[in-house]
This record gives sequence, C-alpha cells and structure tokens, in this order.
Amino acid sequence: MAEKKKEHLKTLIIGSGPAGLSAALYAARAQLEPLVLTGQELGGQVSITHIVENYPGFPEGIGGPELTQLFQQQAERFGARVEFDTATEVDFSSRPYKVTTYNGEYTADTVIISTGASPRNLEIPGEKEFTGRGVSYCGTCDGFFFKGKDVVVVGGGDSAMEEGSFLTRFADKVTVIHRKGELRASAILEKRAKDNPKIDFIWDTVLENINGNGKVENVQLKNLKSGEASDFATDGVFIFIGHLPNTEIFKGQLDMDDAGYLKVNAYMETNLPGVYAAGEVADPHFRQVITSAGMGAAAAIQATGFLEGQE
Ligand code: NAP
Repeated sequence: MAEKKKEHLKTLIIGSGPAGLSAALYAARAQLEPLVLTGQELGGQVSITHIVENYPGFPEGIGGPELTQLFQQQAERFGARVEFDTATEVDFSSRPYKVTTYNGEYTADTVIISTGASPRNLEIPGEKEFTGRGVSYCGTCDGFFFKGKDVVVVGGGDSAMEEGSFLTRFADKVTVIHRKGELRASAILEKRAKDNPKIDFIWDTVLENINGNGKVENVQLKNLKSGEASDFATDGVFIFIGHLPNTEIFKGQLDMDDAGYLKVNAYMETNLPGVYAAGEVADPHFRQVITSAGMGAAAAIQATGFLEGQE
C-alpha cells in the first residue's frame, strides 16, 4: 500500500461546496495557504444543481458546475490547493488537530468544516434495491434517462418543486406525491410547478413500497386521510425529502444539535478553539449558496484572527 501523504497546515478545509471554497478564497488571501479536501463531490450539492438563479451577480442564472468552477478558480488564484480526497477520521483531542483521509494524514492549526449534507432516504422497501435503477435523488443527474417516461417526485419543498419542474424537460408526466395537503415550497417555485401542464399532484399520500423487476415499475401508495392503499405505475421515483448533515466523523468530538448539525456561534466557532463550521453542515435553516458562502468567508476571517492571536 502506498505511503500516506503527511503534511502540516495552517488551515485545513474539509469540504468543497460554496462554504468550503469561499473559506478557501478568504484563507488564501490571508496567506494561510489552505488545503481543501473535496469530499466525494467537488462543489457539493450545488455542483449537481442544473441552474442557480438566486446567487447575486448572475442575473440570468448560472449552472451549478460552472459556479463551482469559478469558486475554485478564484480560490486557487490566491494560492488555495484543492485535493480530491475525503476525510475519514478526525482527532481533535489535542492540537494541532489531526485529520486522516484516504490518501493522507494531516495536522492543522485551524480546521474549517464544510462537509454539507446528503439527501435523506425514505427508508421504505425497494428504495435501496432500485437506487440507480429508477430511484434517484438528483433530477439534474438522472433526468435524461427518463425521456418520454412517467416519474413520481416525493416531497413538498423547494427541491421537489425545482427538480420536478426540471424533470418535465424529459419526462412525459411528473406526479408529485406529498404527505400533506399543501406544499412548503416558496411561492415562485410552487406556482411554476402548478402552472406546468406536465405536473400532477397527489396529496396526503405516502409511498409504502417501490416495486419492479430489475427496474422500477410501480409504487404502492397510502392515503393518510382515508387509509386507502393503491398501486401507481411509474418508471422512476425521485426523492427530495430534505437532507442529513455529514457529521458522522465528528461525533463525540464536536457539539451537535439533535439532528446532527454542528453547533456554531455567530463567529462560526465550534466548541473547540480553531475549529470552525460553515455552510449546511451547521445550518439547518437557510441552506442557500449565498448564506453558505458567507459562513465560509466568516469562518476563514475568524481562523485568520485566531492564528494571529497565537503568534
Ligand atoms: P425541505 O424544505 O426540508 O422539504 C422536505 C419535504 O419533504 C417537505 O415537504 C417534507 O414534508 C417532505 N418529507 C420529509 N420527510 C419525509 C418523509 N419521510 N416522507 C415523505 N415526505 C417527507 O427540503 P428541501 O426541499 O430539500 O429544501 C431544503 C432547503 O434548501 C430549504 O431551506 C429550501 O428553501 C432550500 N432550497 C432552495 C432552493 C431555491 O431557493 N431555489 C432550491 C432547493 C432547496 P412536510 O412539508 O410535510 O414536512
């Protein structure tokens, strides 16, 4: 087995979404020579978003992958390094802090955690079995495979509406199945979905099973008001029911709320000196590119001040 790379850093950034790359920009400009560990997906969730319409400076919107690339370029221009690697273990029991990755063993004076969140699963029979064979958590990634087909979308939030609308580019019919009688999505996304002739809604209903033979063929539904069960034929199931923070490796070392989000104060500080968190990993509320980028910048500014105070 190849020897693991060893390096000491002033600032190590775990995660490469808008928070991580914005932190990298600010840390690099402050001469902290940050290293960003990308995690499994460079850019995180925004990199699989078809178009971002609410990040200022791009009045016509900008593609998620393109925005990620621009964030990265800007951080690299000032000396940040981006490494395609994932943190697998951390030891924050003493300083410098230790972070182990697939390929390396790092020590760092400051750590900025921006590991984001991952899609929540429905946890019903058939979901795991058919993931990649009709079950998906990303319309932008998989929509193309459903050209001329019928799909269902599960969820009633912004993601479900945005992705459901996007899926009508490919699918003949998109049926949104929501457990309540009303959506929680923002007005503009709700209106866009409701005005779309290719989108239907089934209310007060949950999926109980996903069935098929090698690929998804139908779902079993249950109406929560009447208790009635029914079968619904479909080629695909797109699940957008929220996210879970990626904080597994920090359990027992950093303070978290009941849902597993890292607790930070207004300065992005965790309970440990020199360890900051930014973006969705510490934000169950806003979860926007702009708020995550702002948190990342704030974390890097604090890390800079912290290191200056140590000198
Ligand atoms: P969300 O707002 O948490 O909505 C999740 C939806 O899934 C809710 O409708 C919820 O139902 C439903 N749900 C949760 N668990 C379920 C289960 N086990 N079975 C069935 N349904 C379930 O998540 P999101 O839509 O991913 O949005 C997350 C955040 O990102 C939000 O703050 C949102 O504003 C933001 N976002 C913004 C944009 C944009 O601005 N363009 C786009 C995407 C996301 P209930 O309503 O009954 O709770």
